[in-house]
Amino acid sequence: MPSEFIKSFKKVTEFHGHVCPGSALGYKAAEAGMKELSTERSPDEEIVTIVENDSCAVDAIQVVCGCTMGKGNLIFQDHGKQAYTFFNRQSGKGVRVVLKSTFDVNRLEPKLAPLRKKVSQGTASSPEKKELQKLMSNVVKKILELPSEKIFKVEKVEAELPDRARIYPSIKCAECGDMVSEHRCRVKDGKMVCIPCFDNF
Ligand SMILES: [Zn+2]
Ligand SMILES: [Zn+2]
Repeated sequence: MPSEFIKSFKKVTEFHGHVCPGSALGYKAAEAGMKELSTERSPDEEIVTIVENDSCAVDAIQVVCGCTMGKGNLIFQDHGKQAYTFFNRQSGKGVRVVLKSTFDVNRLEPKLAPLRKKVSQGTASSPEKKELQKLMSNVVKKILELPSEKIFKVEKVEAELPDRARIYPSIKCAECGDMVSEHRCRVKDGKMVCIPCFDNF
């Protein structure tokens, strides 16, 4: 895959809002996946991605692969794993990119984790905050320069792809009156209601 089809990490940072190891790992995962699929990034649903966490990394995936919730080609499975599966809808080929158990971001920069904790607890001084920014940039740089096989295990997979985003008819919730997509309605006392109304017995 020609590298000009992979967006730059700068684009990820613009979208994500800060530089962090998580988004750098997501970037590397997306890059590895896209290369393995050797497909050109398409503005419409060509790639379907399954993400198994909802961390910073997912923002990088969205930018690089063009997969978004709204288009229905970003599927979130709440497994708490650093694993990303990329499918080319046309070829039907898929590849699962999963973080190796031997990879530890803290080993790239041992001072990062304790300092991060200090900053998040609000006990860091301003020089320490600056130091954290520097460490973060260093770690990100290291991650981006690493060959992806040092970070991820890549395996070919086959799976049945979910249908393209469908348009469902909306109906009026019998309790609150909000319009709600039919496939999300529940039946309560024989009436069609939305999920919040169903849950609030
Ligand atoms: Zn982040
Ligand atoms: Zn309702």
